[in-house]
Amino acid sequence: MNDSDAIVLFSGGQDSTTCLAWALDRFAHVETIGFDYRQRHRVELDVRPVVLNAFRERFPNWAGQLGGDHLIDVAVLSQVSETSLTRDVEIAMQANGLPNTFVPGRNLLFMTFAAAVAYRRGAKHIVTGVCETDYSGYPDCRDDTMKAMQLALNLGMDTRFVVHTPLMWIDKAETWRLARRLGGDELVNLIRDETHTCYHGDRTHHHEWGWGCGQCPACELRAEGYRQFTTLPATPLPTMEASGP
Ligand code: ZN
Repeated sequence: MNDSDAIVLFSGGQDSTTCLAWALDRFAHVETIGFDYRQRHRVELDVRPVVLNAFRERFPNWAGQLGGDHLIDVAVLSQVSETSLTRDVEIAMQANGLPNTFVPGRNLLFMTFAAAVAYRRGAKHIVTGVCETDYSGYPDCRDDTMKAMQLALNLGMDTRFVVHTPLMWIDKAETWRLARRLGGDELVNLIRDETHTCYHGDRTHHHEWGWGCGQCPACELRAEGYRQFTTLPATPLPTMEASGP
C-alpha cells in the first residue's frame, strides 16, 4: 500500500470538499469516490465534476495531485431504506430521536466500498468528512463508529488502512476556517458557490452561504456555520500544550 496515496469520500458538499483540500495538502496522490444511492438531492452528483474541475483550474499547485474519480452505483440502498433522503416524504424527527434523513447503514456501506477501491488502488489513507460536533445525530458519523470501521476493514481485508476524519471535532464555522487556512478565500469562495448541501436539491436560491432552500436542516446548519464564520472571531485551536497535563 502506498503511504502517499489517499481516497476521499467526496459527495460534492461543503464538508467533503473541505476534506478533499485537506487531503491534497497532505498526500501526493488523491482520488475521490462518490455514491449514487438514488438520493433525492441528486444534484450533488452533478456538482461533483464541477467542483473537481474547479480544483484543477483554480489550484494549479494541487491539480497534479488530484487523480481519478470513482462514482459507485449503490441503488440497492434506496431499495432497502425508508428515509426522507430516498423517498418523497417530509423531513421529520422520529420517535427514536433521529431525523428520518438518517439512512441506516449508509456510511458503513460507503466506507466499505471506499476501502475496496483503496485496496484495488493501493491507497493506504481513507478520508471522510463525518463529524460528531454539530451534526444531525447520525450514529454512523461518530468517532467510535469510524474507529471501529477502520478496525473491521483492516481485519476483513488484512490491510493497514488509516481512516482520517479531519472534521470530527470541529463545528461548521471551524470547517469554513479550515478551508480558508488550506486554500485561502479562493477555496472559501469555491466551496460557497459550487458545493451542494441542501437536502431538497435546491439550486435556484442563492444565499451568502451558497445554494439551497434555506429551510431544511442541512441548509440551516450550513447557514449558521457561515454566519458564525463571517461574524465571530475564531476560537483558538487546541494545542498540545493546552491539552497536556
Ligand atoms: Zn435546504
